[in-house]
Amino acid sequence: MKYHSTNNSSHQVDLKEAILRSLPPDNGLYMPNQLPVLGADFWKTWREMSFQEIGFAVANAFFGEDIPADDLREIVNGTLAFDAPLAELAPDDHILELFHGPTLAFKDFGARFMARLMAHLTKDDDRMLTVLVATSGDTGGAVASAFHNVLGTRVVILYPKGKVSGLQEKQLTALGGNITALEIDGSFDDCQALVKQAFLDRELSERMNLTSANSINLSRLVPQSFYYIHSARQLPVGVEPVFVIPSGNFGNLTAGLLARQIGLPVAHFLAATNRNDVVPEYLEKGEYLPRPSIATISNAMDVGAPSNFVRMQALFGNSWGEMRKHISGMSFSDDETRAAIREVKSRFNYQIDPHGAVGWLAARKYRASHPGAVTITLETAHPAKFPDVMDAELGKDSVEIPARLAILADKEKIATALTKDWQTFRDWLTANIR
Ligand SMILES: *Cc1c(COP(=O)(O)O)cnc(C)c1O
Repeated sequence: MKYHSTNNSSHQVDLKEAILRSLPPDNGLYMPNQLPVLGADFWKTWREMSFQEIGFAVANAFFGEDIPADDLREIVNGTLAFDAPLAELAPDDHILELFHGPTLAFKDFGARFMARLMAHLTKDDDRMLTVLVATSGDTGGAVASAFHNVLGTRVVILYPKGKVSGLQEKQLTALGGNITALEIDGSFDDCQALVKQAFLDRELSERMNLTSANSINLSRLVPQSFYYIHSARQLPVGVEPVFVIPSGNFGNLTAGLLARQIGLPVAHFLAATNRNDVVPEYLEKGEYLPRPSIATISNAMDVGAPSNFVRMQALFGNSWGEMRKHISGMSFSDDETRAAIREVKSRFNYQIDPHGAVGWLAARKYRASHPGAVTITLETAHPAKFPDVMDAELGKDSVEIPARLAILADKEKIATALTKDWQTFRDWLTANIR
């Protein structure tokens, strides 16, 4: 299969380049030339298949031309080493729990698949692949965990000093081995600027065999479509779900659109955001006005210029009217989100994190005006990742910390402190990553 840039359909590359390069040189995003569709055979048996079998069928539709079936099956099974269960609050109100992976957020699905796919694509190269990633929190942890001990790869993570939570920092700094953490005296934007500059530096980028692991990488989207199909088949026969996606960069929602494209019956999508409501505003008014982000309690969704928006547009032929037929947008304040956390606990005895709570609010509002609608709200992270908000709403120590997060607290932080100066960073890379 060939891949093209959303900015220029005649810029065509193969799978290896689309995945390792991540971004086309014209600043568009890579899309497959043909969007695969699963045939009648699959839809005859999908309700009886395992999560892994569904994952393989979808991955094979996208990557089967380029990757031998046995290798692809191994990549999928290695990715899906944990479940994504559906919790029922009411027969029309479901929560899809995407936090059962090693770093307790849905980003584990994309990161684990990407790590295995990249290792496969470079297995005959004689050079180490260096993954460079800037993080404001969840992405770095998921990427570090996914690449830890993957042969032929090493990861350099840049994070802003003092601006990630204590446990998040441990997720980046306690693994060791092929994972190196750089604590940058600056903001997330400074970290991102250093990463960008490194990619623009052709000599450095080629010498170090640099690749990126950010959420625009196509290999992170495809595995996220697996759980849309896996969850939908758990509803009664004939029920088409309304998927509710708490969104920031809109990778998760784009993965849902890929699942629909491949043949999954979906009644509707809801783009649920916090006050960073660029996409809901676009869906309502037809004007796309990216702007600086505002800080909220659902901080993984504090995005003012969503990077996957152009992919969403491409999937609807750049038509506002078409997109509105399939996606509605809703945004909620922090006060509403806090009230939702309390209400979900008191009515259903269920702990929902601040991101999932934004989704639950959107689901409820939609059901109120669409009788008969059955919603599946994506719960994107475990509530234990947000102890401050959860304790404030549900009482101190109300959320049990899963063991895989708790053991991190005692691990040693190993990070190299650097300034945000480009030349210092470049010299450090040259001297230390060889
Ligand atoms: C990354 C993230 C989101 C936003 O997902 P996008 O794919 O960027 O829209 C939502 N919730 C949590 C917990 C996240 O980590």
